[in-house]
Amino acid sequence: MEREFDYIIVGAGAGGATVAKELSKKNKNILLIEKGNVEKSIGTFNDALRYFDGSKITKIPFKSKEGVTLWRAFMAGGSAFVAAGNYIRSFEREFKSMGIDLESEFLEAEKELHVAPLDDSLISEGSRTIARAARQLGFNMEPMMKAIDPSKCIRCGQCMLGCRTGAKWTPIEYLNEALNNGVEIMYNTTVDKVISEKGTVKGVLAHNAKEQITLNAKKVILSAGGLSTPVILQSSGINEAGTNLFIDIFVCIYGLHKDLSLINEPQMAMVNLDFHNEKGFLLSPCVNHVRQIRFIEAGMKGFAMPTKRILGIMIKIADEESGYVYPDGSVSKIVTNQDRERLNFGTAISKKILEKAGVDPDTFIETHPAGAHPGGTAAIGRIIDTNLETRINNLYVCDASVFPKAPGMPPILTIIALSKRLANHLS
Ligand SMILES: Cc1cc2nc3c(=O)[nH]c(=O)nc-3n(C[C@H](O)[C@H](O)[C@H](O)COP(=O)(O)OP(=O)(O)OC[C@H]3O[C@@H](n4cnc5c(N)ncnc54)[C@H](O)[C@@H]3O)c2cc1C
Repeated sequence: MEREFDYIIVGAGAGGATVAKELSKKNKNILLIEKGNVEKSIGTFNDALRYFDGSKITKIPFKSKEGVTLWRAFMAGGSAFVAAGNYIRSFEREFKSMGIDLESEFLEAEKELHVAPLDDSLISEGSRTIARAARQLGFNMEPMMKAIDPSKCIRCGQCMLGCRTGAKWTPIEYLNEALNNGVEIMYNTTVDKVISEKGTVKGVLAHNAKEQITLNAKKVILSAGGLSTPVILQSSGINEAGTNLFIDIFVCIYGLHKDLSLINEPQMAMVNLDFHNEKGFLLSPCVNHVRQIRFIEAGMKGFAMPTKRILGIMIKIADEESGYVYPDGSVSKIVTNQDRERLNFGTAISKKILEKAGVDPDTFIETHPAGAHPGGTAAIGRIIDTNLETRINNLYVCDASVFPKAPGMPPILTIIALSKRLANHLS
């Protein structure tokens, strides 16, 4: 007789790992299916080429049809594995107004992840100089809320390639707990479609390198991320998924300083949120120290900059929900006029701060627009209800797709809180 799981969870990233861990406490029969692998060797540019999404041949990162870079990773832990380790509550007020009160889930998650302002000992002289300059100009610049253990951090400045020392929290911790509680995890397996009968879930259709697989379940939770979940929904008959894509577009301003850099600190060590509510952007000192990544970001100008003398600020906006994910997984995403205005406002302030910090303004370069927070493609109120259920009974979505609007903020903490809430609702 064919096996039937109580739950199949699709995707082992921020949402999927949390739901798996929480549901596993209830002694259920759970299968987690993940497209990527458990990566053993992490933390270098060459490692990252394996798990970041990009062309298999040229290694160029995934882009929208209009050329906006879309950063994401396929692996155990998902994009949350390569995150900068920033954990700020986002969209709290908006969810509350929809009847979704996440207060107790936020508190629980913050405790489990040990979220705290980045330890002073980990902040480089470069960021301190930027913060002083910002304050002299009347702007704030505070340590970022992080989930980084200062006793393990070696200040390699490569958080976004994967943390080699385990200083940064990742969903692997939740996956290990789920495994210990009996959850089965199937890696290197891609879910293509949800099977339903008379409007109710029956299971999923998946494939690996060898074969197609049909797996049965009473309930299915899609946590494949803002760019993959809508593709699965569309192939399962929910054709209206995939619209309203946001990505929290960002650019960085880089410039040369005579002797300072941001090399010796966790990336995005500090943050300015002065403009978040009114103007829709945040600022954070940030430089990618790998030349090849700066080449991707800004061509030869980025590549040629001497790594040990760059200071930079990332400008990250809440962009318009203007994008679309097509059934074949390709993406349309532009920088709208409003997005450009927000970016311009933020870059102008960032240049002032950097100049005040001693950066030569003649060396300023701006990176190409990119995004690493895709979501909105299966939003609450449009594709799912406030319990995260679709119009197919027992089919749920729990990842960044469910945000109705761009947070313009690190979304993982909120995704974890939503996942805890869903697990409570289901059990
Ligand atoms: C470089 C980088 C830095 C970031 N830094 C931060 C940060 O500091 N703080 C923050 O809050 N956010 C950060 N983000 C964003 C954050 O990582 C994502 O918003 C978050 O991980 C989204 O969670 P999710 O559950 O929607 O998707 P993910 O965490 O990406 O998980 C989706 C999972 O589903 C798997 N999958 C995809 N398709 C399928 C399929 N068809 N079948 C089976 N499995 C599938 C993927 O492999 C992946 O493991 C960063 C992102 C990047 C790329």
